Amino acid sequence: MSEDCLFCKIIAGEIPSTEVYRDDEVFAFEDINPAAPTHILVIPIKCLRDITAATEEDKNTLGKMLLIANQIAHERGLTKDGFRYVINTGRDGGQTVFHLHLHIIGGRSMSWPPG
Ligand code: AMP
Repeated sequence: MSEDCLFCKIIAGEIPSTEVYRDDEVFAFEDINPAAPTHILVIPIKCLRDITAATEEDKNTLGKMLLIANQIAHERGLTKDGFRYVINTGRDGGQTVFHLHLHIIGGRSMSWPPG
């Protein structure tokens, strides 16, 4: 846990969130400012500042994040019409919280390329 990390505080329950999934490696919760009807963040319990900080020892966790995201996408009925996974990375990538997170965004049609 990193002391000044917003998402670490959410995992610890120090800041409230709407939990979607939790185990000893992965946590998922509703985004506070949803960009679509479904907007959920999937994060590792381990505080990695972004996806580029991941190493060989994190590969099982990264795989699990994607499988849990798939499970949530199924549960939320997103798989029929499609949806989007996003990992914003660094300043130019639009990352604002520096604890790795996978966005699950769905429930509406989306455009490409992103802004
Ligand atoms: P990013 O811009 O990729 O770093 O995404 C950060 C996301 O965290 C944004 O979609 C925010 O709406 C979301 N967020 C920030 N604070 C909270 C919070 N307290 N609870 C839930 N989601 C949050």
